[in-house]
Amino acid sequence: MDESKWRIETKAVQSGYTPENGGPRVVPIAQSTTYKYNDVQSVADLFDLKRAGFFYTRLANPTVDCFERKIAALEGGVAAVATSSGQNANAFSILNIAQCGDHIVSTATLYGGTVSLFSNTLKKMGITFTFISPEASEEEIQAAIQDNTKAIFSEMLANPALTVLDIEKFAKVAHKNGLPLIVDNTFPTPFICRPFEWGADIVTHSTTKYIDGHATSVGGMIVEKGGFPWDNGKFPGLVEPDESYHGLIYFKNFQPAPYSAKMRAQWIRDMGSPMMPFNAFMSMVGCETLHLRMERHSSNALALAKHLEKHPMVKWVTYPGLESSPDYALAQKYLNGMCSGVLCFGVKGGVKAGEIAMNSLKIAAIAVHVADLRTCVLHPASMTHRQLSEEELIAAGVSPDLIRVSVGLENINDIIEDFDQALEKAKNC
Ligand SMILES: *Cc1c(COP(=O)(O)O)cnc(C)c1O
Repeated sequence: MDESKWRIETKAVQSGYTPENGGPRVVPIAQSTTYKYNDVQSVADLFDLKRAGFFYTRLANPTVDCFERKIAALEGGVAAVATSSGQNANAFSILNIAQCGDHIVSTATLYGGTVSLFSNTLKKMGITFTFISPEASEEEIQAAIQDNTKAIFSEMLANPALTVLDIEKFAKVAHKNGLPLIVDNTFPTPFICRPFEWGADIVTHSTTKYIDGHATSVGGMIVEKGGFPWDNGKFPGLVEPDESYHGLIYFKNFQPAPYSAKMRAQWIRDMGSPMMPFNAFMSMVGCETLHLRMERHSSNALALAKHLEKHPMVKWVTYPGLESSPDYALAQKYLNGMCSGVLCFGVKGGVKAGEIAMNSLKIAAIAVHVADLRTCVLHPASMTHRQLSEEELIAAGVSPDLIRVSVGLENINDIIEDFDQALEKAKNC
C-alpha cells in the first residue's frame, strides 16, 4: 500500500523512518556534527545543493530529517524544515517571504510570544503587521491587505483565546490576493486538523507541545503544502537567482518544495538555529502516540469543561467543544469533533480567588507550559502574556481572571476532584 494513503494513525507510528534490512527498528540518534566523505567532489556538490545529503548538522541531520519527514507526512505536505523552537518556526515562516518594507496581516488572537515577535521584534526589522479579529468578515480581511502584504498569518486554535479559525474564509481572501495563508497548528496537531486540506499553504508548529507531548524537548517545524504560485510577482526571493548559491532559483530548481529549500539554504544556514538530533529523537518518539494522546486529551478536557461549567465557584468556561461555545460550530467542522486538551476559566471572586485555587491544586501543577501529558495551569496575564499591553491582552482574548488549564492524561476523576478541592479553598475570599 502506498505510504501516502496510510491513515493518520499509521503515519504517526511508522512514517519518517524505514529501517534497512537488519537496521535498528527505532530511529537512531545521529549525535554527530559532521559526516565523512571519500572525495572532494562529493562535498563540493553538497555545498552547491546539486546533491542531497548531510555535511554539517547546522543544515541537516539524519535524525532530524526523519522527524521532518514524519511531520510532513502527518500534515500532508511536500516537505518540512525543523527549527530550534516554535518561536523560531513562526519567525522564519515570515522572514522567508517578507523583508524590510513588507507587511503581514495576522489575526490578533495569538500566543503571547508570537504577539511580541510580530509587534516588536519583526517591526524593528521593518516588517509591519495589521492585526484583525478572527471573526473579521471577508470584506474586513480584504480591507487589511496592502500592496506590500506578503502573507496572512493565524493560529488554527488560538492559545489561549481558544478561538477556532474559519480557515476556508481566510484562505479564500488570501488566495484571491495571491498570498499564502500561514497557520500555526500547534494546538490541534495534525491528528485533529490538517490545515492544508482546508486551504492553508504553510503550517507551523511548536513541536514542544503535543507533538513531543511529554515536555522534554523544545522544537519547531515549518511545513510546506507545495503548489503555491510563488512566481506571481510578489515573491522575488523565490524566483530571482540566489547569488549565495551561484544563481540558483528556488522556484525553478527546487520543485516541489521551493519555500522549504530557501528556508534551509538561507535561514537555517545563515541564522543557525537547527533542531538538535537528540531533541528530534525525543519528539519523534513522542509523536508516535500522538493519535492516542490527542483523543484522551480531548475527552478529558471536555469532561473537565462540562464539570466546571456547572460548578458554583466558576464564573465562565471557554472550550470550543462545549455546546455553549460561540466556536462550537467551527470546532465541529474543522476539528473533527475533538478540541484538544486546553480550556480556560475564571473563578468567582476574580484574580485573588483564582490565585488561591491555583495554589491549592495538587495534581495540576503551576507551570509555564501547555500541551503535555501532565495537567498544568497558568495565569497568562501574570505569566506568558505579561509583556503585553492591556489593549493587546484584550485583543489576544486574555481577560485578567483567565486561568488556562492544560488537561493531561491522568484519570479524569482524579483531575476533577483536584479542581473541586482547590475551588473549595477559594470559596471564602
Ligand atoms: C508555545 C507556542 C509557540 C512557541 O513555541 P516554543 O516552542 O515555545 O518556542 C508558538 N505558537 C503557539 C501556538 C504556542 O503554543
